[in-house]
Amino acid sequence: MDTIARVLPKLPQDIVTCDQDIVAAYTTDFRRLYSGSARALLRPRDTAEVQAIVRACAEAHVPLVPQGGNTSYCTAATPSRSGDELIVSLERMNRVRDLDPGNLSVTADAGIVLSELQRAADDAGLLLPLSLGSQQSCRIGGNLSTNAGGVSVLRYGMARDLVLGLEVVLPDGALYSELSPLRKNNSGYDVKQLFIGAEGTLGIITGASLKLTRKPQQTITAFLAIRHIEDLSGILDAAQRETGEAITSFEYISETSLQLLLASRPDFRRPLAEPADHYVLMEASTSSSALNLEEASTQLLAALMESGLVTDGTIATSGQQAADFWRLRENIPEAEVHHGGSVKHDVAVRTSRLAAFVQAASKIANEDRPGAILSVYGHVGDGNVHFNVVAPRGVSAPEFKARFEEEVSPKIYELAFDMGGTFSAEYGIGRVKLDLLARLGAASKVDIMRLVKQALDPKGLMNPGKVIPSFN
Ligand SMILES: Cc1cc2nc3c(=O)[nH]c(=O)nc-3n(C[C@H](O)[C@H](O)[C@H](O)COP(=O)(O)OP(=O)(O)OC[C@H]3O[C@@H](n4cnc5c(N)ncnc54)[C@H](O)[C@@H]3O)c2cc1C
Repeated sequence: MDTIARVLPKLPQDIVTCDQDIVAAYTTDFRRLYSGSARALLRPRDTAEVQAIVRACAEAHVPLVPQGGNTSYCTAATPSRSGDELIVSLERMNRVRDLDPGNLSVTADAGIVLSELQRAADDAGLLLPLSLGSQQSCRIGGNLSTNAGGVSVLRYGMARDLVLGLEVVLPDGALYSELSPLRKNNSGYDVKQLFIGAEGTLGIITGASLKLTRKPQQTITAFLAIRHIEDLSGILDAAQRETGEAITSFEYISETSLQLLLASRPDFRRPLAEPADHYVLMEASTSSSALNLEEASTQLLAALMESGLVTDGTIATSGQQAADFWRLRENIPEAEVHHGGSVKHDVAVRTSRLAAFVQAASKIANEDRPGAILSVYGHVGDGNVHFNVVAPRGVSAPEFKARFEEEVSPKIYELAFDMGGTFSAEYGIGRVKLDLLARLGAASKVDIMRLVKQALDPKGLMNPGKVIPSFN
């Protein structure tokens, strides 16, 4: 009998699904870059069931692929084509275990959808400051396993910065549980950090304690037209100073990205009367109702326009208008899909080098592929730019993308590397950036990662083929 056939009968049958009509939805990634296969999908309801699965699979040498919302941008949550792996979806583990307003913390199952956990915090008059475009689908375990970024990193940090405690089922089925939401805990190595950003290769996260913050009493959302991309860091600096470090988001949108969006969504409107080459969507917030953030923001905008750094700008006068600004930013990836999809370069450099990176990368792309559409946008307040390239009109998108990825993308990643940056700012490695990690990762990093993997998962059963170049 094969190993999978030996494992499945040992598990509670109501957590096992072999119906391929159901399993199929879990074997292809969100962007449809990769389709794998799995004979069964396992959907445990609690940590004990996750342990039972992992123990049985460890004993029989069956590899597992943990899955949250399956929104990974690097096919990290999809099984290989071999059919030898089982998928463990955490979707049935979706409870809030404890919300402590006095401690500003929440403890929840790893399978809870991010927007649902945000809602639970909101109902308690608090804010979970993790926010990304996929928040209606992605799940906390996935967010932590990818160390997700998003639009509030500037103020609150990456997902790892929000974690107070973690519960993880280790590759042999043992439980690491350090869930207490303590603000200070120097009792030995900070073991939980190992699992954050590990993309399911070191264990299955089953629960997490996260920091909450006070809910903003005032939020200012502004849309600015920028004369020169080189001025971005100066504008951010002025904004932080004038608002008392209240900036939560500082998002760049190029005119090219906006044009792609408006062409695919005729129901969307330009927020400013005249087109410009560069825009910033900026948000500031404070939990104070005494400070006058509106006055500070209005003065800031006036000063930026007087200095010529900003050529036009508007501050949203209603929640609806603020939401309309955000819809522009959030729908750019969809607009790229509408135009045949993009080659994505999720790059970060120092904020002080960001403009130089965009200019040099644009030069490379324009020289190599004249007519390519450069959809550049991103979380530039964190030095993170999505340098995305769409096929010129009339050119076959799949062919263009494949050749660009092979022939031009390496030059763009090397440029980021030469400028002291990274080839993966927030999406991770998955199976699509293994070669980049091997080539452009920090010295000795892959060696250390292998040692950690060997120590925790010597059989190589946790999400094989992802993150660690050629393990086992
Ligand atoms: C429209 C859109 C916008 C996006 N915007 C952003 C953005 O702004 N910033 C950003 O960082 N990302 C973004 N992403 C990428 C993606 O949403 C994030 O990486 C997200 O954190 C993945 O969560 P998930 O639950 O979907 O994880 P999945 O895709 O299911 O899994 C991702 C990885 O985590 C592992 N994993 C999942 N759950 C667990 C668990 N419980 N234990 C151990 N391992 C686990 C998987 O094996 C896989 O390796 C975006 C994606 C989309 C589609």
